[in-house]
Parts: sequence; structure tokens; C-alpha cells
Amino acid sequence: MRLLMKSKCYALIILIVMIFLSIGSAARAESEGKLIVHFIDVGDADSILIQQGKRNMLIDAGNDKDSEIIVEYLIKQGVKDIDILIGTHIDEDHIGSMDSVINNFEIAKVYLPNSYSSNKYLEDVMQSLKNKNIQVTEAASGETFNLGNGICTILAPVSRGYEKLNDYSVVMKLQYGETSFLFTGDAESISEKEMMRRGFDLSANVLKLAHHGSISSTGNEFLNRVCPQYAVITAGRNNNYRHPHRSILIRLKNMGIKVYRTDESGTIIAESDGRNISFNKKPGSYLYRGK
Ligand SMILES: [Zn+2]
Repeated sequence: MRLLMKSKCYALIILIVMIFLSIGSAARAESEGKLIVHFIDVGDADSILIQQGKRNMLIDAGNDKDSEIIVEYLIKQGVKDIDILIGTHIDEDHIGSMDSVINNFEIAKVYLPNSYSSNKYLEDVMQSLKNKNIQVTEAASGETFNLGNGICTILAPVSRGYEKLNDYSVVMKLQYGETSFLFTGDAESISEKEMMRRGFDLSANVLKLAHHGSISSTGNEFLNRVCPQYAVITAGRNNNYRHPHRSILIRLKNMGIKVYRTDESGTIIAESDGRNISFNKKPGSYLYRGK
């Protein structure tokens, strides 16, 4: 009788352990089946963490003062290794804290655009890379690589040289199942025209608006080609640049594109299961906040 009780007890324990194990693996499978895109609120700057399964990619790393915000945010998301780190271009609001990111995480691959000029921020990035013996890969238009089950294609920069630093921006399209995202850095109209001329498939469900919603980017024709359902604008609260621009907001509104704004909602997280995209915040307004 005692033996029977004992074996029943063991069976129960085994059953409970099996249930826990299956819940754990189901949760793991679920997160592996998702693409998660974090538009981290770093004011009038960019820093975008993209996770697919165990893979992590970071596009840009805010201003110099944002290192604590970015590093802490990544740690909170369980990031230890960054498989792909992209600095879209060398302006402070995109690579300002990239040296801290390089110092704090294991980095597998780094993409930067070809640029003939340099500045203090790029020098800091290059020093951090040198200290860890990491090579830079020049972002080449047309190059494709994987992030877990996501397929990334670098679209821009198309040319070797530009007048404005913004036009050197690495533009990348990420396809995940039937859904797609377009990350544009601060690419302006010259780069937009080049991408259209190249005949790239620019269509995407989510467009990260270039240059914080400035009038210098997101031309009518380009926006028509992307034809997004959702636009994400990375802009600072009450920023001095009056980002995003009134006419860009009107353009988005007229096309019925839902808008998500870090100046209104803080950090925004988009999730794709390969078919549908959801956001952790309600859509923002089309209100122009410049003075
Ligand atoms: Zn910028």
C-alpha cells in the first residue's frame, strides 16, 4: 500500500515536471516565432533593437548622453550578444553611444556606411572596435543577410559620395514572413530617388520615417512606393528641430497611415508573428508640435 502511494506520488511529480517543461518550450517556441522591434525612446535620435529568436540586431545608438538608457534597455531585454550592429551614418544622434554598446556587449558584425569624413563620435566607435579587435563591414547596397528567420537587405547608400551626411544613411528592409519593415536612418530625398531608380521593392508594412519626420525626407513618390500601413517617428518631446514636420504629418494622415511617435508614446515596440503586426502602444496623433 505504502509502495503504491509512493509510486503514485512519483508519477504526479513527473507529470508536473513534464507540464512545466512543455509550458517552457511552448513559450520559447512562441518567442522564437516572433520578430520584436523596439524603437527605444532616445529623444531626437535613433536606437532600434530588433530581436528574432536568439538573434539581436541594433540599428543606431542615440546621442552621446544616451549610453545608460540604451545599455540598460538592452540588458533588460536579456541581450548579451549583438549579432549585427548598424550605424546608419556618423551623426551624433545615431552613433553617439555606439562606443558604450561595443564596450558592454559581444558584437559579431558591424556595418557602417562608407564615409569620407569623420568626427569625434566615429573616432570613439573606431577606438572601441579596435580595442576588441572587431572589423567594420562597409554597408553595400544589395547585400542580404539573415537575422534568425528574418531576411535583411541593405538598400542604401547606393552611391559612394554625397554632399550631406544624412544621405550616407544605411537603409535596410527586413522581411519576416509576410510582413516587412523599412529602416531608413536619416536618408534624404537624394537617397530616396536613388533607391527608386534602382528598382528596389520598397514596399513595407512599417516605415521608420527618415530623419525624425523632417521635410527633407519621405517624399510623396517614395512614400507611395513604400505604401506602409504604419509609420514610426523617432522624435524628441518639444525638440528644437520641430520634428516631425507639419506637411509630413498631413501626408501620412491623407494616406491613412497609422502613426506611432516616440515624442508622444516613449519607447514603442512592434511585434510580428510573420502574418500580423501589433504595437504595444496606441497610435499617436497627426498634431504638429513645433512652435
Ligand atoms: Zn538623425
